[in-house]
Amino acid sequence: MKKIVGIVLSLGLLAISAATCADTEEPAETEQSVEITEETTSEETETSETTQAVIDVTVTVTGNSAEYIYDGLEHSVKGYEISCNDETFDVSSVVFSGTDEIIATEVGEYPMGLSADMFTCSDEAFNATFEVTDGVLKINTASVEIPESKTFVFDGTEKSCVPESEAYSIDGTNTAVDAGQYEITLSINASGGYLWSDGTNEDKTLSWAIEQADASEASVAVNDINIEYTGEEITPNVLVGMGGITLERDKDYTIQYSDNVNVGTALVTVSFTGNYKGEASATFEIAPVSYSVPKSHSYVYSGEEKSLDTEEYYTYSGDYSGTNAGEYIATAVLVDKTTTCWNDGSTDDKQVTLTIEPYVVTNAQITTDGESTQIVIDNGTDLVEGQDFTAEYDIDTDLEIATVKITYIGNYTGADEVTGDVEIVNENEHTFILNTRTGKYHYNYNCNGLNKSNPKNLSEVTATIEEMHENGYSPCKLCNPDDQYE
Ligand SMILES: [Zn+2]
Repeated sequence: MKKIVGIVLSLGLLAISAATCADTEEPAETEQSVEITEETTSEETETSETTQAVIDVTVTVTGNSAEYIYDGLEHSVKGYEISCNDETFDVSSVVFSGTDEIIATEVGEYPMGLSADMFTCSDEAFNATFEVTDGVLKINTASVEIPESKTFVFDGTEKSCVPESEAYSIDGTNTAVDAGQYEITLSINASGGYLWSDGTNEDKTLSWAIEQADASEASVAVNDINIEYTGEEITPNVLVGMGGITLERDKDYTIQYSDNVNVGTALVTVSFTGNYKGEASATFEIAPVSYSVPKSHSYVYSGEEKSLDTEEYYTYSGDYSGTNAGEYIATAVLVDKTTTCWNDGSTDDKQVTLTIEPYVVTNAQITTDGESTQIVIDNGTDLVEGQDFTAEYDIDTDLEIATVKITYIGNYTGADEVTGDVEIVNENEHTFILNTRTGKYHYNYNCNGLNKSNPKNLSEVTATIEEMHENGYSPCKLCNPDDQYE
């Protein structure tokens, strides 16, 4: 590694000049040197006394020095400065035999190793005393700033407290994503030439932290939009987002509900935890339970009772059921107007109508004798004259034809008209029991006067009392038939 620069010479002056020329001087100076040599020679020849007078000089040699901070690379220092206290002394006449270069990498102090005995003077005119200061290469330890503790705010990305370095090793948690307090111990790489900036090489312990991110401005959205009163606590899920990230329940936040039973505005409070801190909230509406308004209904009379629809969430005032044809008006009233409403959003009372239409009579079976009428309708029901229908009788006594106009009323509707033959009965005629043998007539067969009569002689005769008398018949004195019809 070390290179020898100085050249050891034991030759004559001319050779030194030549060597000097070869190493450092210009050719012109080589000639000058030769001249000097000649002058010296002539001086020696002119004054033999002064020739012998050798001049004492002090030659100062100072080795070059350098300092480096350890960086793992090779450093070097080379050469030396030379000067003399006598201007007439040519320092190029100094001959050096030794090494004037130092090369090193590791931390340390490396002397060049210069000493006076490595220098000689080739000029016999001078008696040189060498004062040598050695050169030195210093490679100093690298001073490492002690890393500072850091505090980050959680943002989902990885954080590190100190950078990786060959100057120290790191023990503990130096890299983390989640909020928390972390500790690391740094050991200086002393053997590698490093030292803390405080001059020590002791381990440094650092606490660092990732703080919770403030999520007070996070968005909180209640998932369910149509929330109805249930009588129980209502706890809809919420969607919590911050900076485009959806936070996770129980990991990032917890939820508390309040005012979440009754109809009205409920509050959900989000308390952040884990990597987040702070609180946020949202409200949601608890609507009353919505129910259909009961419908009006229309039925046809059937003899059975009909009712409007009933549900437990409302009651009726007024008539909501009936049997007979007619219109029944009821008012539906919500049982609980604080937790329920109609599906139109109101809680007002609603008027509902039950209509029972009269039965339209068709194809009735009508039997009439001109005085009363029996009607059986197609569903088998016997109608009651005067209640279910009225009959208007028009009887032609000469033709013995009756025309009956029927009008259905009450629970029935429609009209009918029937005509038919009728027997016109004389109300003065009576039926007597005539004994054709005796010419006597009796009121009926119960008369004791008939006990001994031969049935062959008995016949029924219908006639007025006057006609019986006109025909020569006489009333029985026991049963007195004429008196029976007085
Ligand atoms: Zn009689």
